[in-house]
Amino acid sequence: MFRILLADKIAPEGVEPLRSDGRFELVERYGLQGEELARALADVDAVIVRSATRITRETLMHGQRLRVIGRAGVGVDNIDVDAATERGVAVLNAPSGNTTSAAELTLALLLALVRRIPAADRSMKGGDWNRASFRGVELYGKTLGLVGAGRIGGEVARRARAFGMRVVAYDPYLSPERAETLEIELATLEEVLRRADILSLHVPLTESTAGMIGEAELAMMKPGALLVNAARGGVVDEQALCRFLADRRLAGAALDVFDREPLPADHPLRKLDNLVLTPHLGAATEEAQQNVAIEIAQAVRAALLEGDFSRAVNAPAIGGEEMRRLRPLLDLAERLGLLAAALADGAMEQVEVRYAGAAEEELLRPMAAGVLIGILSSVVGRSAVNLVNALHLAEARGIQVRRVRLGPHGDYGEYLEVLLAGAGIETRVAGALLGEGHARVVRIGDFHVDVVPRGSLVVLRNRDVPGVIGRVGTLLGNSGINIGEYHQARLQAGGQALAAISVDGRLPGELVDALRRLPEVLEVRQVQLD
Ligand code: NAD
Repeated sequence: MFRILLADKIAPEGVEPLRSDGRFELVERYGLQGEELARALADVDAVIVRSATRITRETLMHGQRLRVIGRAGVGVDNIDVDAATERGVAVLNAPSGNTTSAAELTLALLLALVRRIPAADRSMKGGDWNRASFRGVELYGKTLGLVGAGRIGGEVARRARAFGMRVVAYDPYLSPERAETLEIELATLEEVLRRADILSLHVPLTESTAGMIGEAELAMMKPGALLVNAARGGVVDEQALCRFLADRRLAGAALDVFDREPLPADHPLRKLDNLVLTPHLGAATEEAQQNVAIEIAQAVRAALLEGDFSRAVNAPAIGGEEMRRLRPLLDLAERLGLLAAALADGAMEQVEVRYAGAAEEELLRPMAAGVLIGILSSVVGRSAVNLVNALHLAEARGIQVRRVRLGPHGDYGEYLEVLLAGAGIETRVAGALLGEGHARVVRIGDFHVDVVPRGSLVVLRNRDVPGVIGRVGTLLGNSGINIGEYHQARLQAGGQALAAISVDGRLPGELVDALRRLPEVLEVRQVQLD
């Protein structure tokens, strides 16, 4: 049974399938904060939040069992994603469920602004019939400037094009092909600011977007231009915006999101008559709430049950079907990592993961993460490293990770090689998947071997002289250790040899010492591969 804390209310369409599944215990405790939240997180596997609950670094410290945070919505700025990554907690979001609603709200705000609907409504309610004061402008023929043209920005662009607007966008990550499909002209931020009749923001709140529309940027906008922000509050400098609206250097603005939410009752933004305000309503539709609830519930379910992190913002994106295909390779990757770490003497500076096989390029990243799980579990413990944080932990330790795709590799359809380098020593191990996903270790150092990567593996280097196998077998037999496989390899007769011996059970330390004392034996390592 997985325990899931529902910390913010999500639509029943998302909750019910989890409840009726039978494999989840739902803990419904809404509106928790601080210590109470920390305590509630202590014994759950997952937590689902919307934007109200803040998951901070401190709260995360208490989530000993926590593996998954699900955010029913797009923005994850209420979650300390870095802290989650460090702890190996996957942060999942529901990025597409509210796209249409947010795009429609943006258009509503645009229209409200150019036709001055809120002010006209206020005047009517006050008993007036004042047509002269509310002359507006058309959207038709105007230039809409977008900052960020992802899911929502893209949908806003489509709708704006339907209104006969020109759309110019600043989005350094948008491909020219997508821009062409959306009939968006790509430009620099400065050009967009200078050309837009209406500027609309659709970027996430990140280090690079926080405060990106400040005094200097507002000053570049046309006098009389309009601004819409239905993205995140921190993107616009609210104080500067207040000044520009009060001085009429901007004709008007519409904000759905704010630096501080709820917006304080006495906030200066509330006093501006050329500003339209809505209380973060972008996703506040029946459809969006149902969509994100269903989307996040499915994502949390798939992460807990199948290790499917395709919706994680902080892990390699691997979907359910891909995960099933990748599982044998990930298992092999981890075992090769364990083996490499056991053979290397602690120093870890570089890891190179080389792969030959049918998996797509983007799956090299999770494979590398799999190898690092093996390598780092000897350092930080197996439970502290997983697909979410393996690459991050490696980076934090200054380990360079390289991923290399090899051409077809001999007879092996699926071949994975790990090179672990540090302190001038290079350790190389490789494995392969044979028919039906059976994994084998096929290389240790320069030696070709063929053993199953399971249980206890003893790797023994010896001089290639007669009688070694017998003496090793006798020592193990006398200690009641059963040998599963014994693969002896050598480079040339009389030189160095290597034995990969898979045994049932674990060799006690005295037995390893006894093996080391055999005159022909140069080195003995034992590694537990599961
Ligand atoms: P998205 O990830 O699909 O798109 C964001 C776009 O911003 C991407 O194309 C990205 O390339 C671009 N971008 C990132 N950094 C940039 C930068 N420094 N400069 C320029 N472009 C940059 O996200 P989305 O689903 O379109 O959501 C956009 C915003 O809308 C987010 O901030 C989200 O939190 C917000 N949102 C608000 C509401 C609401 O209720 N008002 C609802 C949903 C989403």
